[in-house]
Amino acid sequence: MKKIAFLSTGGTIAMQEEASGLATNQLTSKDLLAKANLHDQEIEFLEIDYKNIASPHVLPVNVIEIKELIEEAYRVHGIDGAVITHGTDTLQETAYLLDITMDLDIPVVVTGAQRNSSLPSSDVAANIIDSVLVAASPAAKGLGVLVVFASDIIPGREAVKTHTSRVDTFKAPEFGPIGTVSNNRVIIQRKPLLRDHYHVGKDFAKQDVCIIPTYQGQDARPFYHAIQDQVSGIIIEGVGAGHVTERMVEGVEAALEAGIVLVIGSRVGHGRLFESTYGYYGSESHLRQLGVILGEDLSADKLRLKLMVLLSNQLSYEQIREEFEKDHYRS
Ligand code: ASP
Repeated sequence: MKKIAFLSTGGTIAMQEEASGLATNQLTSKDLLAKANLHDQEIEFLEIDYKNIASPHVLPVNVIEIKELIEEAYRVHGIDGAVITHGTDTLQETAYLLDITMDLDIPVVVTGAQRNSSLPSSDVAANIIDSVLVAASPAAKGLGVLVVFASDIIPGREAVKTHTSRVDTFKAPEFGPIGTVSNNRVIIQRKPLLRDHYHVGKDFAKQDVCIIPTYQGQDARPFYHAIQDQVSGIIIEGVGAGHVTERMVEGVEAALEAGIVLVIGSRVGHGRLFESTYGYYGSESHLRQLGVILGEDLSADKLRLKLMVLLSNQLSYEQIREEFEKDHYRS
């Protein structure tokens, strides 16, 4: 018999409508498993009620606690896989942070729901059933932390919430899902090749990394606030292939001068940054020459988590650059 840890954190999947018509967190991990009615599967569940909160309230330190609980469940109970239920709003952050830090090779799945179980169109039961089947599948081993949602199996590194209400909200925008759950069969079609793994340094909770967006007319003020707040790092959410406005450049220079690590991503959401294509003020080549690190193809929220982990390991600026740019130059 397989043993699966089932850890609930809250989110819509654990919500029901109150008399007022508003949905609030009410269901426990036991309630969720009862909805999925998995009795015909040969699975023993280890239920863990971690929290019952909406996912905008989840903190990166909570994710590290979840990682430790799953690792402990493996050590103490010898689990074969794990399912974590979570709100969809920040689910991609939790899946990614678990993916780069989890010290286990068993299938670990993060799932949620777009429609709570009071609604006739609820996706709660289907997502739980699919996730448990993936967590119990030997084929899902060694693929990193996976998001299972609306029958798709998506690597945590690539999963992004793309729609506010549709049930198939999670996508891997550039490369697509790596598998599917079809009529209760787990099909893994390909394997993710780009994966990072890091130890979580003891100062993780102290890392204060902020995200500064780019838009027409954006100026340097957010950089000065960040410098004043003595942040440990800044993620610039650039435009296009890694560009900022003219007025932001003085802020970039001031932050670098203050010793803050700066990593740039793009608000576009698909594709990698350029490195030496454009020569204008605030272009990718200009920023890189100043000392800004290129942030792969990751969204700003994921770049922030990776930088927090790297900073918690006391890496030098050059080592941090290497960790973000190593795949960029892989041929
Ligand atoms: N916004 C809620 C949350 O993220 C509901 C959800 O999408 O699960 O927890």
